[in-house]
Formats: sequence, structure tokens, C-alpha cells
Amino acid sequence: MECRNLVGGSWISPESGATFDVRDPATGELIARVPRGGAAEAHRCVDAAEQALPEWSARSPAMRAGFLDQVSSALRRARTELAALITRESGKPLAESAAEVDYSADYFDSAAAEARNLVEVRLPVRGGGTLKRAIPEPVGVVAAITPWNFPLAMIARKTAPALAAGCTQVVKPAEATPLTALTLAQLATDAGLPPGVLNVITGDPPSIARAWLGDGRVRKLSFTGSTRVGKELMRLAADQVVRLSLELGGQAPLIVFGDADLDAAVAAAIAGKFRVAGQTCICPNRFLVAREVHAEFTDRLVRAATRLPVGPGTLAGVRIGPLINDEAVTKVRRHVADAIDRGGVLRCGGGTVPVDGCLDRFFAPTVIDSATPEMLCFKEETFGPVAPIAGFDSIDDAVTLANATEFGLAAYIFTRDLACAERVGAKLRSGIVGVNTCAVSDAYAPFGGCQWSGFGREGGRWGLEEYLAWKYVCATSS
Ligand code: NAD
Repeated sequence: MECRNLVGGSWISPESGATFDVRDPATGELIARVPRGGAAEAHRCVDAAEQALPEWSARSPAMRAGFLDQVSSALRRARTELAALITRESGKPLAESAAEVDYSADYFDSAAAEARNLVEVRLPVRGGGTLKRAIPEPVGVVAAITPWNFPLAMIARKTAPALAAGCTQVVKPAEATPLTALTLAQLATDAGLPPGVLNVITGDPPSIARAWLGDGRVRKLSFTGSTRVGKELMRLAADQVVRLSLELGGQAPLIVFGDADLDAAVAAAIAGKFRVAGQTCICPNRFLVAREVHAEFTDRLVRAATRLPVGPGTLAGVRIGPLINDEAVTKVRRHVADAIDRGGVLRCGGGTVPVDGCLDRFFAPTVIDSATPEMLCFKEETFGPVAPIAGFDSIDDAVTLANATEFGLAAYIFTRDLACAERVGAKLRSGIVGVNTCAVSDAYAPFGGCQWSGFGREGGRWGLEEYLAWKYVCATSS
């Protein structure tokens, strides 16, 4: 496997020779050492992307789409190997990793389809002899900084539309999961991507980010990660007026109304809450349940959560893998302890479970009843397999509780009354609303949040738009 960085079509290591370790989160085993690049490598990357820009942006959108098709096919062909690598680096169960590969390939398909539809727009002429056109131009050299929890999909969402639009890109993946990113770069190179169109470097996050945002040639940054880092990057982006997309943290409410199909609600809640062991931005973190079904829903959720197999992601049938590192375990413990201190009732889980040959990072699926908005788990992302539940008495209560957060990424509503779902959905401050489902991710839909969950959309035509700068030309014949 290639562990060096891809810059201008060459695989390189930093001159300093510095590296950092990539370890299996389940066992702590060393998987690889990858380059620890810094500002020098970051600028070198931009040189390469800048050099590749004129030729790549001059290609027709259809030609660029053809290349994206190749990458999509390469991803699907490498599904098994890529899934194994994603599980090795991130710890998530193999079935989830395989689904991530499919989802990532979908982003290349979706961006290719959008590229084929990309045309300039002739505007209606009012008054004689004036020709008005809106021309879609690529933003230029763009940067991407991505998190560890979807090490392939979070890059696919940015690389596919950026390249479709005619931009060239520099990418920095998360420290925990650089190998998946480097493998994507390898696949793209093998598929015939010209040198410098996609560059991937690993290394020191603040130095690389500062170099890119201060460079002046990087015209956009698309960042997915925590709200804390997103805010820092927003400040840094101001100096060079760098365009931003920020896909940040979430604190999704899941509202269960009294008429909901409880079997379906529990199944969806389990799938949504416990994917990647609760370490996703859109997983429900605040369960709000109508008083009349509160006890029944909670009992059923507890029964289903307790049955989820915990273990290394490589083991068939496992649903809950390790948390990504020891700090994550500490944070989840802190949130559970805080909830119990504040009167929460622990219904299952509450701590780690031992797994043979593995580190102490496997947190049991946890359900906490009688949760309140003052608890840390209601206020901040726990990023772990913890489901806090609170009851509500009226629709207005449910909406008030759901909106009592700075975040606004996803929200879920369970009810048989679709008119009610429509009314409530309209009142929720959230970029995404799932009705009777938590499976909302779709490469053809606009994914993104509001408030502290960020801004910008990924997927479909909305994802491509983020990488376009429309030039308006107004011409008269004399
Ligand atoms: P993180 O913010 O710690 O790291 C994300 C990326 O930023 C990594 O590449 C990291 O190396 C880099 N980074 C860290 N500190 C930096 C700094 N000072 N300057 C520049 N870059 C820096 O997040 P994480 O732990 O990797 O991922 C989890 C977070 O990502 C959660 O908050 C989750 O909700 C969020 N997330 C959001 C979405 C979304 O679509 N909204 C999707 C996935 C994850």
C-alpha cells in the first residue's frame, strides 16, 4: 500500500523524513507510518494544483465526467479491499465500510451526471441587441480537510464535484485514517487522472490549514469535522477571503409521536444511533418521545440495543466496534456520568466491555432515560453509542426541545400522520429531516446543516454548485 503523499502526480515524503503512526483503533496495532507534512508540503501541493488547473478546467465537462465514471468503477471493483482498509483504520464494522464504498462511488456518479448537465445560461434579452450569458467557471484551486469517521465518503463528496466543476484539489485527510485517502488517490491516478489535479498530503493539521488559507491561490476550503475546528478555519479564511463550505457537528433530535409505528421507529433509531458506534454527525443524539408511548418505546429500544453484538469490526455480525481513541472513551464516560449525576436513569450499557485481544475502547450501547436539556449529552455531541431519552407532552413541547440547540444538521420525526410530520418538519431548524427513517444519506440529495452545523451542501447539483463561480457577461454589438 502507498503510504507516501501524492503531489503533482509523484509519490513523495517530506524532506524532514518525519512520520506519524496509524494504528488499528481496536487493537492498537501499528498499521503504517505516513509522512508528517507541514507548510512546505502544503505549498508544494498548491503549486501542483495551480499548474494543473488551466488544462483540467479547459476540458469539457463531459470529458471530466468520463474520468469520474472511471473512478466510480474503480471504487466498486476495489470494494472488498477498500472496506477492509476502512475497517482497519476507523474500526467500523465491515458491512458499514462496504456500504461506505458504495456511497462514495455514488458521489462520483452523481457529480458525473451533474457535469454532463453543466451548460452556460442565455438570459432573456430585454431591449435590442444585448446578449446576456451566465457562464459556469470553476472556483480554481480548492482544498479539502476531512474527518476520520467516513474516511472515503467525506473525500468523495468533495473531490467528485470539485473535479467535475473543473477545479483542481488539495486534500488533507484525518490523522487516524490517511490510508483510505491515499488509496483513493492511487485509484484515481491509475484511472488516468492528470498529475496535479488531485493532491493528497498527510501531516500537521494546523500548519497545513494555515498554509493553504494564507496562500492566496487556494480559492475555497471545504471542511468536514468538528464545529470547534470549523470556527477556527472560518477565522483563518477571512484574510484571503477564501470561500468556505463547513460540514460540522450535529445534535440530531429524534421525535417519536404517540401514533408512530414503534417497531419501525425502534429499528430505524437503532440503525441511525449505533452506526459507527454512534460516531456520526447525523446520528440521533436526543430522543424525544410522546409521554403516552415513552415507556413502551424506551423498553423496546433497550431490548434492541442490548442485543447488538460488540466486537472488532472485522468480525462477522458485529454491530458496535471500538471508539476511535482513548479520548473518545473518556468523553463518552464523562457524558454518561454527568447524565446520571443530573438524575438520568441508566437503562443499559454505561461503560466499556472487554473484548479479547483488544483495547478498552468498546462502549456498550447505552440508553439513558429521564434525560433533560441541562445534561452534557443533550448539549454537546457525545460521539458515542449513547441514546438519552426525554418525554414530551405536546407537539409544541417537542418542537421547542428539538430546537433547543446551537446545531442544526439532521432531525427525525416518527409518526403515521404525514401532515403532522410536514408541519413539524417545517418548524425544525435543521438542514435535513428524516420522516419515519434515519437513513437519509444520498449522494443525489443536498446534505448539509444550518447554525453551528455549518453551511454549504454536498451531493447532486447542490454539491457541484459549491465549486462553481458564475461569470455574468452582458454584451452589446456596439
Ligand atoms: P476534527 O474536527 O477533530 O477533525 C477533522 C479534520 O480537521 C481532520 O482532518 C483533522 O486533522 C483536522 N484538524 C484538526 N484540528 C485542526 C486545526 N486546528 N486546523 C486545521 N485542521 C484541523 O473532527 P473528527 O474528530 O475527525 O470528526 C468528528 C467530527 O466531524 C464530529 O464533530 C462530526 O459531527 C463531524 N462530522 C460532520 C459531518 C457533516 O457532514 N456535517 C460528517 C462527518 C463528521
